[in-house]
Amino acid sequence: MEMEEQAVSRMITLIQQRGVHDAAVLEAMRRVPRHRFVPEHLRAEAYEDYPLPIGQGQTISQPYIVALMTEALELHPGDRVLEAGTGSGYQAAILAEMGMEVYTVEIVPALYEAARALLAELGYNTVQCRLGDGNAGWAEHAPYAGIVVTAAPTQIPPALPEQLAEGGRLVIPVGPRGGYQILWKLTKRGGELHREDLGGVAFVPFV
Ligand code: SAH
Repeated sequence: MEMEEQAVSRMITLIQQRGVHDAAVLEAMRRVPRHRFVPEHLRAEAYEDYPLPIGQGQTISQPYIVALMTEALELHPGDRVLEAGTGSGYQAAILAEMGMEVYTVEIVPALYEAARALLAELGYNTVQCRLGDGNAGWAEHAPYAGIVVTAAPTQIPPALPEQLAEGGRLVIPVGPRGGYQILWKLTKRGGELHREDLGGVAFVPFV
């Protein structure tokens, strides 16, 4: 327990040093028990700043990237947000901890089931999980103030910007499979998308 607290504090300090300063993001990352979202045998590494395998060939993103993407979404409590790529459920838990109305879509049944159960067990009961293809977004609950994609497509799936509210932000890594991608922040203004390059990243492919 003591060791965990120290590991969490180290993680938060590192994220700050790397340039994320949003207090709500840092507080959520301090509170969500990341060690519950990684496989039991990797718990000792849960707060290290690298991705970890979560089964099915997938990974939980590294803490700094989760923080960077969450900050880039520029959300306020009560905002509706869509995540494509639930994975372990960690990113969804961070958003829920910040008070957002969270919708998350996962394509691999085993990951969907495990994330749904874990989010409920940890009390993140408001997170809505769906088994399906994130390429289609989740039209029933659109528009979203923010959409975050946690795997990398080679192109932006057109349904995602369509489901953004005016002024909304889409944070998405785009690039070739197996290579590096660019993390984009796209802001919808007057029906147009304004692009901001947040840097190079390496995500698993969005299928
Ligand atoms: N946000 C996750 C990181 C998950 S890794 C976390 O916090 O743990 C990316 C996830 O995207 C994987 O679980 C993968 O199965 C999922 N994925 C890939 N393509 C997808 C698609 N088309 N629709 C929905 N999920 C997809």
